Formats: sequence, C-alpha cells, structure tokens
Amino acid sequence: MVARDHAAPEALTGPFVYFLLSVRLLSFFFSTATMPSPRTYDVIVAGLGAMGSSAAYQLARRGQRVLGLDRFDPPHTMGSTHGHSRIIRTAYWDDPSYVPLVGRAHESWRELEAASGERLYYPTGQLYLGAHDSMLVSGARDSVRLNNIPHEEISGAALAQRAPGLRAPAETVAIWEPHAGVLLPELAVATFLKLAKQAGAAIHTEEPLIRWNAEGEGVTVTTPRAAYRADRLVLTLGAWMGKLVPGLGVPLAAERQVMHWFRPKPGTAGIGPDRIACFMWEYEPGHIWYAVPDMGDGFKAGIHHDGPKSDPDAVDRHISAHDVERVSTRVREMVPDADPSPVASAVCFYTDTPDGQFLIDTHPESQAVVVASPCSGHGFKFASVIGELLADLAMTGSTDADLSLFRLARHRAAAAVKS
Ligand SMILES: Cc1cc2nc3c(=O)[nH]c(=O)nc-3n(C[C@H](O)[C@H](O)[C@H](O)COP(=O)(O)OP(=O)(O)OC[C@H]3O[C@@H](n4cnc5c(N)ncnc54)[C@H](O)[C@@H]3O)c2cc1C
Repeated sequence: MVARDHAAPEALTGPFVYFLLSVRLLSFFFSTATMPSPRTYDVIVAGLGAMGSSAAYQLARRGQRVLGLDRFDPPHTMGSTHGHSRIIRTAYWDDPSYVPLVGRAHESWRELEAASGERLYYPTGQLYLGAHDSMLVSGARDSVRLNNIPHEEISGAALAQRAPGLRAPAETVAIWEPHAGVLLPELAVATFLKLAKQAGAAIHTEEPLIRWNAEGEGVTVTTPRAAYRADRLVLTLGAWMGKLVPGLGVPLAAERQVMHWFRPKPGTAGIGPDRIACFMWEYEPGHIWYAVPDMGDGFKAGIHHDGPKSDPDAVDRHISAHDVERVSTRVREMVPDADPSPVASAVCFYTDTPDGQFLIDTHPESQAVVVASPCSGHGFKFASVIGELLADLAMTGSTDADLSLFRLARHRAAAAVKS
C-alpha cells in the first residue's frame, strides 16, 4: 500500500471565498514557517515484537539511526510473543531451508545472552511423537537423517525411560532431539529493546503507525503524534500485517491460539524437563499438540493450528469450555501426573501464510519497505537471526542467506499452482 492523503473538494464561489482564501493562505504561510519538518531516521521499524525488536537492535548496533514504533508497550500480551516459553528445535520436517537458519539462530541467541548478561535459553531436548509413519514422525526422521542432526528413534520401554511422565499408546514412536530447548520470549523482546536503546535507537511505545507513504528516495510514516521520514521502513506488525499491509498479493491470516498451564498432581514425581521434555505429538493424523515442561510456572500445552481465523482487533480473548476441553482431554490421556484443569490460559496469534512458510521480502511497490511475517506458528526461535536478515535487507537490499522460500514471488507462484 502506498497510502496517500486525499483533500476533500470544496465549492469555491463568490467574494466571501476570496476573503476565506486570503485567510487560508496567510495561515498556511505562518503554519509552514513554524511547523517542524518530519524527524528523519535511517530506518523506521514498525512493530516491536519478536522480529521488530530484534531488527531494531541489529540496525542500531550497526550504527543506523533507528526509530522503533509499537502500538502497545512490548513485551505485551496482545500479539504473538507472550506465554513465557517458545521451543527451539532443529528437526524441521517442513522444509530443509530452515535447518541452517536454526543453526545461526542458536549462535545469535548466545551472542545476545553474552551482550546482555541475560539467560534466554534452557536446553530440554524435544520429542516428536506419533505413529511410525505419521507426518510428524516421518518428517522429523527425514530431517534428522538428511541434516545429520543428533537424535535417537525410540519406542516402548526406551520411550518410557526417556519420558516417564508420558503415557503413550503402545504403537507410539518418538524421535528424540537432545539439542532442542526453550527460549524466554518476553525477556528476549525486553533485552532486544534495551540493547537497541543503549545503541542509540529511539523506541516509541503506545504510538501506532497509522499511515506510510513511500515516495521518492524514502518513506514517510505518520502516527497520531507526528510524521517521521526515513530512508527505509521495516514492517513487522505480526497479526496486524494482513490488515495494515495490503497489496502483497499473499493473504496473511491471524489465527487464534490458546495456551494453557497445568500443575502436577500432588504426590506425583512432577512434569518437569526430566519427566516429559518438550514435545510435539501427532495424536490423530494431521493433528498435533505440543507442550513445554514445567520449569516453575506449570506445564504449558496447546493444539498446533486448528484455531479460527480472527481479526486481531476483535479476537475473542475469553477462554471457553471448548478451548480447555480439547487440551485437557490430551493431558488426561497422555500426561497422567498433570492435573487436567488448567491453572491459567491465554490467547495468542499465529499469523499464517497459505503454506506455512515465512514471508520476508521488500514490498512490491517500494524497495524502501521491507515486510516480514516470519510466523505461521513457528517463527520465534528465528527472531535472533531474522533481526540480522531484516537489517541486511534494510541497509543493502540483499542478504547472504537464501531467502527464496520466503519471497513474495514464491508465495504467489505456490498459490497459483494450488488454485
Ligand atoms: C501460542 C503460540 C505458541 C508458539 N510457539 C512457538 C514455539 O514454540 N517456537 C517458535 O519458534 N515459535 C512459536 N510461536 C510463533 C512465534 O511466537 C511467532 O512467530 C513470533 O512471536 C511472531 O513475532 P512477530 O514479531 O511477528 O509478532 P509480534 O511479536 O506480535 O509483534 C508484532 C508487533 O506489532 C505491533 N503492532 C501492531 N500494529 C501496529 C501498528 N499499527 N503500529 C506499530 N506497531 C504495531 C504489535 O503491538 C506487536 O508488538 C508460537 C506462537 C504462539 C501464538
């Protein structure tokens, strides 16, 4: 969208109009003589969740004059980056292109920990569970073999030993990935923003982008408080991308997701990392639930996808009995040491592309605008490296990483083949 302001037409007739015009011309002269020109930056980053906060940090540490804008005060609970934990795993059954990116993401998270002194990553390992030939297990198996990812394939007694807190049907097979773990999303966003500010970025919270206009060499961004000018604009608006950035030719859908937290039953050995690890479990063909073990605030679980498409400004944040039951049922059957009544629940968004692959590219109408929707329910682990890629794209228009899977043209071509 190259947004433009349109002035309302007026009927101009009669001598009174000449008087009005003179007054208007005078007031225009005085207002423009005193009005500050838009403040200028090298790059404006709109949306400071996982991806935008990381991009703002990377840009600021590379010496760019950065303005970061967010409509809320991140980290917050209105978008996609809350709920205390996110899994980082390498066995990408979706597409092998993600595997080298996870490797760089791990390094980059470690660099962020070193730069900030914060601990953001906790190793737990991850299990991919299901029937031997299920989509999840066979995909994880292919991925670990193809990419030489350390793993074990286990079932029966070996599975019961690895994850004594799980009750799996006899035919269940698991791929165990020992080097997977958990990242802390809210602390990560707060850390990116803190370091971005230390490196000189201006971070404006509670200040939404309401309009942008790519003209000439740069971009003008308007908020309720001011107009800003920059050479480049990075749009990382999460669930709001589909509403605020039309013209991409790829539909981006905000999908309502619910996370629940469960406590161990009294007198049991608990549901911590030594008892259940992180897991993704294809409990019925094509249906996956996931969990993060209890690391102090309960065991977190949810259904991967299967949520309704929602308007991010009007989503139902009330937790229904149905929301609870579809996860409690799995907990009751498969995690017997957990109390199946959740102690807390929260609504969050996936922002889905049609085929679940990230979208990262420049806007079709302006090379000065970088657009990023690295979500579809699996983006957080990459936030550290995506900040680097977005900084590369904003500063030079290209990056060394292979982004072909994420380009708009690839998405459009895939949609055309499907229809
Ligand atoms: C329940 C759940 C579980 C998940 N589990 C995992 C996992 O285990 N592993 C994993 O890798 N990924 C996981 N994901 C996906 C991951 O969390 C997301 O891919 C990631 O958080 C998306 O980050 P984002 O920056 O795109 O969106 P957000 O973090 O939501 O950031 C978007 C920002 O844009 C701001 N904004 C919106 N409109 C405007 C405006 N007009 N002006 C300025 N700012 C605006 C918002 O306020 C927000 O701060 C999960 C997601 C969910 C919901």
